[in-house]
Amino acid sequence: MLIESAEELLDRACRIPVERVRLKSLTDAGIELLVRRDDLIDPELSGNKFYKLFFNLRDAHLQGFTRLLSFGGAYSNHLHALAAAGKRYGFDTLGVVRGDRPVQISPTLRDAEAWGMQLAFIGREDYRHKSEPELIAALQAKYGDFYVIPEGGANAAGARGMQLLGQALEQQLKGDYTAVCIACGTGTSLAGLAAGIDVTRPAIGFSVLKGEGGLGRAVAVTYRQLRVSEADVTFGAAANWRLVTGFHAGGYGKKHPEYLSQFWQGFEGDTAIPLDPVYTVKMFLGITSLAQQGYWQRGSRIVAIHSGGLQGRRGFVCPS
Ligand SMILES: *Cc1c(COP(=O)(O)O)cnc(C)c1O
Repeated sequence: MLIESAEELLDRACRIPVERVRLKSLTDAGIELLVRRDDLIDPELSGNKFYKLFFNLRDAHLQGFTRLLSFGGAYSNHLHALAAAGKRYGFDTLGVVRGDRPVQISPTLRDAEAWGMQLAFIGREDYRHKSEPELIAALQAKYGDFYVIPEGGANAAGARGMQLLGQALEQQLKGDYTAVCIACGTGTSLAGLAAGIDVTRPAIGFSVLKGEGGLGRAVAVTYRQLRVSEADVTFGAAANWRLVTGFHAGGYGKKHPEYLSQFWQGFEGDTAIPLDPVYTVKMFLGITSLAQQGYWQRGSRIVAIHSGGLQGRRGFVCPS
């Protein structure tokens, strides 16, 4: 197993470029925007999924597992990264995918298979029970023993990797920023990031899901697991994370409304930074909208985490 130590990962995370970008909507509001390019952390295991898999792979290895199983949809950044990690670090991987196998699978799943991931398509009803022991037992009976990573890498080990990203950011900028922003699906990344940065600065999560669901609660639980030593951090109130829910633009993976396509095109034209259609584009829309609404004081220095996911552009009509 060639996977790095946590120190090596931190070292690598400290060398991720943090780029200053100029957008008229932000400069007009007196806001400086820095983009941390975690989409560049690895050519195959992109963005936050790299960090979220890191301790999961280490834990699996320490417990003697050679086979990993996880879940995702046809364009899942998580399954894509897991397949790449399996190939790189010598694990067999099994990807459980929602729905029937179509005649032609997505480019995401094609890559995953090419990297050696075995795909198992299960019905939508079964998929809903993916975290229940009965379904896991049924999969185990069929495919043998394996280490289970929840969909999206959404567990404490996943958050620990993102905590390390937060620590790297803190070291790089020496605390000289106002807030850090990230796109949220499960909220694991937000929880880890918030737990990694200084408790006096907020981590702001932009949810790409329609409806809050259990997102805030999930973030709170994971965050507390990582910030246990900080006695003053209590449920919600004193925690340094916030959730913004108004920029899902129709919901997870939905066709983009016209205003989002236009924003995306404008952003990439102005910055030359490619975005993914499901997550980062909505976070940047949220950041610029909040700035225009006067959410941050003039002179604020906002950091946005580019959490990767660019492989997902292949399922979408993109601006460039
Ligand atoms: C998975 C993903 C997220 C969301 O991460 P969570 O930890 O589930 O909130 C954000 N951005 C990108 C690009 C992703 O692939």
